[in-house]
Amino acid sequence: MLVDIVVVGSLVTDYITRTPSFPRPGETVFGHGLSIGFGGKGANQCLMAAKLGAATAFVGKLGHDAVGDNYLDELKRTTINIDHVTRTSLAQSAVANVVVDDNGENCIVNIPGSNRLMTVEDVNAAAEVIKSAKVLICQNEISFDATKAALTIARQNGVVTVLNAGPAVPNLDPEILNNSDIVCVNETEAEVLTGVPVSGVADAVSAAKVLLTQGCREAVITLGAKGAVSLDLTSLAAGTDHEWVPAEKVVAVDTTGAGDAFIGAMAFYLAKMPTLPTKEKLRRSCAIATQSVLKPGAWLSLPAREELPSHLF
Ligand code: ATP
Repeated sequence: MLVDIVVVGSLVTDYITRTPSFPRPGETVFGHGLSIGFGGKGANQCLMAAKLGAATAFVGKLGHDAVGDNYLDELKRTTINIDHVTRTSLAQSAVANVVVDDNGENCIVNIPGSNRLMTVEDVNAAAEVIKSAKVLICQNEISFDATKAALTIARQNGVVTVLNAGPAVPNLDPEILNNSDIVCVNETEAEVLTGVPVSGVADAVSAAKVLLTQGCREAVITLGAKGAVSLDLTSLAAGTDHEWVPAEKVVAVDTTGAGDAFIGAMAFYLAKMPTLPTKEKLRRSCAIATQSVLKPGAWLSLPAREELPSHLF
């Protein structure tokens, strides 16, 4: 099987409860309603790339439970190849309990379950599809050993490796960073990885410089409504410095999954239009991520190719 993009990552079912106010310890409140969303950074990114028209494959793990059955049914409705989504009886499928109050504040309890049981053997079983891909995307939501194995196979076979180092952990294994061609993070994640507080373009450039010393060849930092910054080793050496693209001004409805939309789109351009200049890759990825903030939810907000202007392709 040949694919453009392979994602080795997480599958999480979100249970989103809306409530007038958060219950205090010991209190019960009546909520407005419950919605169920499919996500996990890995799955969101993969679906984004698939909706843009890339041939994608997902390598992940679900529990042998009703939550896993539902998720698998949902994946079957997409174009994502799921030959390497396995099941385990040793843990539940990952879920996130998200409680949102009337002020839009949220509290989340994430149970990583089966995502954490992804093993090196699972990744080795998917080695052929990883080798066949043009781009591999990983995140920090599965076991680090599995991520390391995937990045190593990809690197040894000339596959472009993208690491979305979220959720961010300090002192991330240097082997993971060394095997990542592109590290893409948001402001908070950039700060955890580099120690540089990031709240704008100048800070992002400083943090990107630190990320480049940690092993990647390109650092991309997303800045929400301020867009995204990219810095790579070649331009740094040539003294041409960073690229920055501001996001289009819109009234954001829900930014959940915006970072994943950006990464899925960036992987699409890396795989399908590899000669696109960095600034154009950033501009188009930002434009697609901005579309995703105009609708609520994660999967439902990811725009399909038909909904986007033709000049993005
Ligand atoms: P999230 O955790 O909400 O999924 P994130 O923190 O990982 O997102 P951001 O940096 O907030 O990622 O956003 C990623 C991209 O989405 C930005 O680079 C931008 O293109 C777009 N975006 C996010 N928020 C806005 C906004 N308010 N207006 C326009 N574009 C936005």
